[in-house]
Amino acid sequence: MSKLIDGKAFADRLCDTLSSEIASLKQAHQLSPCIAVVLVGEDPASATYVGAKVRRCEQLGIDSRSHHLPATTSEADLLALIEQLNTDPEVHGILVQLPVPKHIDSNSVINAINPDKDVDGFHISNAGALAVGQNNMVPCTPLGSLMLLQDELGDLSGLNAVVVGRSNIVGKPMAALLLQQSCTVTVAHSRTKDLPAVCREADILVAAVGIPHFIQGDWIKPGATVIDVGINRIQDSETGKNRLVGDVDFAAAKDVAGAITPVPGGVGPMTIACLMYNTVRAAKNQAGIKD
Ligand code: NAD
Repeated sequence: MSKLIDGKAFADRLCDTLSSEIASLKQAHQLSPCIAVVLVGEDPASATYVGAKVRRCEQLGIDSRSHHLPATTSEADLLALIEQLNTDPEVHGILVQLPVPKHIDSNSVINAINPDKDVDGFHISNAGALAVGQNNMVPCTPLGSLMLLQDELGDLSGLNAVVVGRSNIVGKPMAALLLQQSCTVTVAHSRTKDLPAVCREADILVAAVGIPHFIQGDWIKPGATVIDVGINRIQDSETGKNRLVGDVDFAAAKDVAGAITPVPGGVGPMTIACLMYNTVRAAKNQAGIKD
């Protein structure tokens, strides 16, 4: 049986540290970190994610300003709001919950955010900075996954890492972070030939595919560390109730992997904790306070 990597406990510890840091920023520098959260439309999953983020802000003492816009909002109006937030000195972080409605170009929205306030780390200049090792704002899910890996394994250098998935928000930045840690990185995707054989080479296997139970137990090298990024809602065949599962067949993988993140309770809580982390970093940077 593999070791369970407890992302919730790690995220709670990170948030405790941030909470103390925020209290001292307020006291010593009169700096109150603030994030603006923009939600366009009524997508229930997005509303749930935004709610969880705002609640974490409240727990930590981060100010949050919610902007909930109707689904019919034009791209021009959304860009105007972003520009207003870009120039507001009291707002240190801007998060536009994705996806935005289809009539709005998400790249235009992401790239309209001041890169120093881009706490999601999706702006093209933050992606470029990560690619050349000059990290500014790093996407939260890969950042949190890396923290879990370093906590579990220590030095990652020389390890074979396979990232399954090449999205801009998870797969690509995850690969860039692992390369910075001197892993030998393979990025696999929907066109990869013989994916099971590629996965079996991995000391570190990161699954970011979006297909429930996709990675099979016999694709995993015995003793490998498995980070399951997937969040998939499925109906339980026995109870009929909805439940969350990852991209890895956990029941099979847990007998092979050395360590594995559960879903829920693995990467998910780290994503929100790293959003808080990025918001505090952004506030300090904008106030000229060194880490
Ligand atoms: P995406 O749909 O943008 O990308 C999925 C990737 O999987 C693509 O690059 C694609 O090439 C690859 N893929 C698809 N089918 C494949 C196949 N048959 N074989 C190999 N590769 C295949 O998804 P994403 O935004 O990167 O998210 C991936 C998963 O992570 C989803 O389940 C999502 O819900 C989850 N997610 C979780 C968090 C979190 O906080 N834990 C954050 C973001 C995303």
